[in-house]
Amino acid sequence: MKLNLQLFAVPFRRTSKTKKRMRRTHLKKEVGAISTCPKCGASLRPHRACSKCGFYKNEEVLKVKKDEE
Ligand SMILES: [Zn+2]
Repeated sequence: MKLNLQLFAVPFRRTSKTKKRMRRTHLKKEVGAISTCPKCGASLRPHRACSKCGFYKNEEVLKVKKDEE
């Protein structure tokens, strides 16, 4: 059985490199909101306890293991 290509919707023109790249400028990963810890200065997501020092709103809410050197 032979496929009749006239039945399928096919692009009239090949999309050029430029047009393809222009379209894909909008396809990028978004960087989420980032704030810094007021205590140790590490970068973290807002409304989250700091993973480095375990502080949130100037209170220690997490026990963070400290590496002994
Ligand atoms: Zn911190």
